[in-house]
Amino acid sequence: MKLVTKPMSVAVRKEVDVVVCGGGPAGIGAAIAAARNGAQVALIEDRAFLGGNITACYVESCNYFLHGHPFDVSGIYKEIELDYRDQFGSSDDIRTDFDPHRFSSEYLKIYLDSKMEKEGIWLRLHSKVVDVLMEEGQVKGVIIASKAGLELISAKVVIDCTGDGDVAASAGVPFEQGREADGLVQPGTVNFRIAGVDSAKVKEILDREGVEYFYQIYRQKVAEGVIDMGYKRQVFPMGRLTAGGQISYINFCNVFKIDPTDPDDLTYGEVLCRKHVLKMFRFMKEYLPGFEHAELASIAPSIGFRESRRIRGMYKLTEEDIDNERVFEDTIAIYPRFYDILSPTGTWDDHVFLKDLDKTYGIPYRSLVPVNVEQLLVAGRCISTDHMAEGSVRAISACMATGQAAGTAAALAIKGGRLVRDVDVKSVQATLRSQGVELPEL
Ligand SMILES: Cc1cc2nc3c(=O)[nH]c(=O)nc-3n(C[C@H](O)[C@H](O)[C@H](O)COP(=O)(O)OP(=O)(O)OC[C@H]3O[C@@H](n4cnc5c(N)ncnc54)[C@H](O)[C@@H]3O)c2cc1C
Repeated sequence: MKLVTKPMSVAVRKEVDVVVCGGGPAGIGAAIAAARNGAQVALIEDRAFLGGNITACYVESCNYFLHGHPFDVSGIYKEIELDYRDQFGSSDDIRTDFDPHRFSSEYLKIYLDSKMEKEGIWLRLHSKVVDVLMEEGQVKGVIIASKAGLELISAKVVIDCTGDGDVAASAGVPFEQGREADGLVQPGTVNFRIAGVDSAKVKEILDREGVEYFYQIYRQKVAEGVIDMGYKRQVFPMGRLTAGGQISYINFCNVFKIDPTDPDDLTYGEVLCRKHVLKMFRFMKEYLPGFEHAELASIAPSIGFRESRRIRGMYKLTEEDIDNERVFEDTIAIYPRFYDILSPTGTWDDHVFLKDLDKTYGIPYRSLVPVNVEQLLVAGRCISTDHMAEGSVRAISACMATGQAAGTAAALAIKGGRLVRDVDVKSVQATLRSQGVELPEL
């Protein structure tokens, strides 16, 4: 049944060169790059803060897999990591040598607020992009919904950094989701934080035995039937440990076989995962040494996803491309061959984790350019790839790199009076290089 509602008016709130939709890693890279290359930029974010999964889902362990390896990410991601570290040090982490790529999501929120101010980006939080304005196959702006009702942000170029490809889907761009065989995506995860652990004791165990010590206790208790999460995940990565007794991110509570773009599934997933959080927290408090006086400090504001829609672009980056270290003429980012695909079924037989960091591959500009629609670019985890390749390009620094490339291309296309589809990729590459991105000469 369809109900007819009263017509809604849409006020024009802002006219800009580039509107970036979504303020996660990709959106941050896109907004900064577009602004630095002379565009007037609006950044629209649904939540109360920037950072995407890093802040909303406590995914603070960016690039942990690069630890101890010479491959270094470049560009805006590196700049932010170093600049953040100058301002906030190791964010109270007492395991400072463990992973140099950590953020505290709380300090990062504050850092990103002032970063946007410094870069001259018009920021709108609490606003969800709900539709696009199209004219003859060309995107002309986006409709946002907020406490102010519906508003139009008109723009010469729209960059979809929503993680879920919301804008591209609204514009009618075809997309795929999940594994090719069954459409299943990696699980949704609700991370949590605890406070009140005996930091000295926990650190001493971590230094001596590594986190595996705690995982062993978990496995033993599973074998004894003391705890059963209903899925076979065997490890629970733990983030920053502070002298004040906080463990900032416990990545363990999952929901499987749900659709990240279906609000009923999301509701189910949030509720189920919070039950898992309580169960896991009680287990930790009872059985892990040093956790006796722990309390549940906070549950991440939102369930997090590692994948959902993958838009159909002018080129689909594949596992084969990555495995063959392919570099394209229109390469806009280089990334190491790393896949992390958490079991979509929960059995853990189908978990893919592969770290082959001596191999690198190129991400082509065409994977950011959707088919059919003009003046739209996509960056982040929803670019055009197959399921396996998404398990690599979804990494936070790779998302910021595709964002940086999209923002740069948008600004250069506007300056040159071209469509983003026809931008001079050589000058995009040259600009990226001159702004700190390491790209091979092609
Ligand atoms: C539990 C978990 C652990 C992970 N661990 C790691 C890790 O250790 N290392 C790593 O590199 N990666 C990790 N990832 C993956 C990584 O977090 C994501 O792939 C990455 O954040 C994607 O960046 P993005 O900018 O494309 O999207 P997101 O981070 O999802 O950001 C999208 C942003 O857009 C906003 N948005 C969405 N829709 C709209 C809309 N319609 N209107 C306005 N705003 C909107 C969202 O609120 C969000 O801020 C993990 C992910 C999860 C869930």
